[in-house]
Amino acid sequence: MSKVRTRFAPSPTGRMHVGNLRTALYAYLIAKHEGGDFILRIEDTDQERFMEGALEIIYRTLEKTGLVHDEGPDKDGGVGPYVQSERNATGVYLKYAKQLIEQGDAYYCFCDKERLESLRSKVSETGTEIVVYDKHCLHLSKEEIEANLAAGKPYVIRINMPTEGTTTFHDEIYGDITVPNEELDDMILIKSDGYPTYNFANVVDDHLMGITHVVRGNEYLSSAPKYNRIYEAFGWDVPVYVHCPLITDENHKKLSKRCGHSSYEDLLEQGFVSEAIVNYVALLGWCPEGTQEIFSLEELVEAFDYRHMSKSPAVFDIQKLKWMNSEY
Ligand code: GLU
Ligand code: ZN
Repeated sequence: MSKVRTRFAPSPTGRMHVGNLRTALYAYLIAKHEGGDFILRIEDTDQERFMEGALEIIYRTLEKTGLVHDEGPDKDGGVGPYVQSERNATGVYLKYAKQLIEQGDAYYCFCDKERLESLRSKVSETGTEIVVYDKHCLHLSKEEIEANLAAGKPYVIRINMPTEGTTTFHDEIYGDITVPNEELDDMILIKSDGYPTYNFANVVDDHLMGITHVVRGNEYLSSAPKYNRIYEAFGWDVPVYVHCPLITDENHKKLSKRCGHSSYEDLLEQGFVSEAIVNYVALLGWCPEGTQEIFSLEELVEAFDYRHMSKSPAVFDIQKLKWMNSEY
């Protein structure tokens, strides 16, 4: 088997809440348990969602918790993270999107906002829940495409999804997920601002960086079948997917990035020690064998096995964290 390589791929859009920390921790543990590499990749191609200061929070949190990444470009005399906006400047994502166009697996779309909106309202009149693009621009002639490009008409690049049959996606925790292909949208790969979408940059980078295990929150589970098509079109191997269960508050409501009290730095401010937070977060959705509950990071590396993760939501229980903290 090839060396295990995982990544933490945060978008700098907010605070680092316990769910993000858990994703980073599990990715780190899966890699280190197998003597593999842990990579940090900043996914900042959605310029509208960028939050000032979010990057610094990510770096500080990883440093304080000891989740040190292994490789990346040279920066300030050390190893920096990969940053997608910097990678985009080299044209790497556009190059791969153009390869798909040449293969007939993707196409230029020049539809304007009005047309897309009218599509959406037409579909909602029919009462269907899922709005997929109608492939209008797939049928443009070569000449029409050339003329539009020459005239500088804004465009996006879309993938050409199959419309018949089904797609099955496998996740290590949630098992097989099958969706009818007619529900798969011809999703956008490159946006009109020249940046890749999150979906496309994510898949291209996971491949180029040799990622063997993708660990992330289960909010991405429903969009995951769409990735199959990109892998297939390139002929790339699909990595192992590990989607982590939801974390809820005591009222079984989803913990959100915006709710400050559950961010790592807020917990530090409340007096919890970093080791106790990491220890507690590790047990949110993973059940070690045996009765040990207090683990150092090294012990977690030794003991962690993603096959013992649960799919049911984990409840963030501050009382339990308080108890754990008292043990440190
Ligand atoms: N960039 C995504 C986020 O911040 C992560 C998705 C992934 O890990 O694949 O939520
Ligand atoms: Zn179009």
